[in-house]
Amino acid sequence: MIHELKAWPSAFQAAWDGTKSFELRREDRDFRVADQLRLREWTPPHEDPCKWRSDTDEQQTTRADIFCTKCRRNIDAPLLGSYTGRVILAEVTHVLKPGTFPGLETGFVVLGIRIQGRNHDRTATEQLRLNGVL
Ligand SMILES: [Zn+2]
Repeated sequence: MIHELKAWPSAFQAAWDGTKSFELRREDRDFRVADQLRLREWTPPHEDPCKWRSDTDEQQTTRADIFCTKCRRNIDAPLLGSYTGRVILAEVTHVLKPGTFPGLETGFVVLGIRIQGRNHDRTATEQLRLNGVL
C-alpha cells in the first residue's frame, strides 16, 4: 500500500537529507510495516502558524471577519499552498501506535522510515501551473 502524504518544507528537507528517519502523523489511515510513503514537499504561504485578527469591533466580530494577517485567508478557509515537485519514496519500517507508550497522543502515530528514493518530478498539471498556464 502506498500512502501519498504532504510534507512541510523543514520536515521534508530533514528527511531528504537523511537526518530524519521517522514521521509523526495523524493516524487517519491504516499505516503498516512494509507500506510505502510518497512524501510530497508542500509549501504553505508561510510555515509559522496563521496570525488571526479582525478589523471589526470586537463585540460584532463573527468568524467571517477573522483573517490571517500573513496569508489573508479567512479562519474557516483551507490553507492554500503548492507542491514543489520534490518527492521522497520511503518504506515504513516501524509503526508506533498510541497507547503503547506514554506521551504519544491518541490520534497520532510515529512511523520509522527508510528512504528508498528522492525525485524532483512534477505532474503535468503542476508543470502547467508553474509555467503560469493554469
Ligand atoms: Zn496565514
